[in-house]
Amino acid sequence: MTETAIGTATTILPAPRARVRAMKEYHPPLGNRDLLRLDFNENTLACSPNVLEVLGSISAGALTRYPEREPVETFVARHLGLTSDQVALTNGVDEAIHVLFEAFLEDGDELLLPVPTYTMYEVYASATDARVVTVQAADDLQFPFDRLLAAITPKTKIIAIANPNSPSGSVATREQLLQLAQCAPHAVLLVDEAYFHFHGETVIDLVGMLPNLVVARTFSKAYGLAGVRLGLLAGPVELMRWIRRVLSPYSVNSLALVCLRPALDDAAYIDWYVSEVLAARTDFEMALDAAQLRRWPSRANFILVEVGPQHAEFVQLMRAASVLVRDRSNDPGCEGRVRITIGTREQMRQAIVALNETVLALKIGVAAR
Ligand code: PMP
Repeated sequence: MTETAIGTATTILPAPRARVRAMKEYHPPLGNRDLLRLDFNENTLACSPNVLEVLGSISAGALTRYPEREPVETFVARHLGLTSDQVALTNGVDEAIHVLFEAFLEDGDELLLPVPTYTMYEVYASATDARVVTVQAADDLQFPFDRLLAAITPKTKIIAIANPNSPSGSVATREQLLQLAQCAPHAVLLVDEAYFHFHGETVIDLVGMLPNLVVARTFSKAYGLAGVRLGLLAGPVELMRWIRRVLSPYSVNSLALVCLRPALDDAAYIDWYVSEVLAARTDFEMALDAAQLRRWPSRANFILVEVGPQHAEFVQLMRAASVLVRDRSNDPGCEGRVRITIGTREQMRQAIVALNETVLALKIGVAAR
């Protein structure tokens, strides 16, 4: 309870739930990003031109009406080889995570997480009464499968796996995910495939076959639509009906809904963008190796790089050279490490110049030897 004085009167402010009071603030550094954006793993270029065309011709009628998600859910479900009652569109994967956790996590439950991983799992879990159980990856940051399996208890309610994972770029195999789902039949296995396009492997075909598998996909990464906030959850009907109870029927707005069909239809654009990123990733790996900076093998559109104690200065100098990168030093086991998004080959040529200048200025990597 907090007291505040207005004039001479004293007001007592309403207190939020204890869990909310204990939540950490989360402020991603989204300001002043009009540079080369290698900090949030977004598409660094653009969405398909077909999406822009559809957005440009949206009618006033479409904006005055409340958004109708069902026809678009049917379209995306068909695209994924699923039925419409197995798919729910969400306001980005963040909303999908939030809604899933709200629907399933309660007092006495455990959320099982390999770490380091995507920050928002812990943020949303901390607003529930569940306990977060983390399994730290070894120094190689590979998926800690055996220890994760050993950490399953009767209280495990959700296991959340980003595949590929962030910030490491490491992956779990299909067999490992299958085994996890089967070893925890009392828990939801969330497989977050935000970076699916860069990896090319999925378990979405197992949705409906495994009774506890839920898969998340986003339009924020390869599709280049982070600004419209569009994601989805796919799972068995028996689980999706509870998720739908918590999900707002209006959380995906009309602009996002009209983007979806042209985005999915332009497969050629995604193929081109992904192949560009994969080629650029190889170029950038060679530059990191030449600079003698330690890196972790990645199956996504980013690479985690060891820069050491001068990580803050590294980020600053890269920004001074017009390249934004993300310090991951606060992630568990990631002290001194920076995550760098991979863009196009041309963009990464600019990043390599900035990298080499920064390495030289800070006397790290090859310059330290
Ligand atoms: N999952 C992972 C693993 C991510 O890295 C991100 C984005 N940083 C998200 C989900 C969030 O995606 P969205 O923009 O759809 O909320």
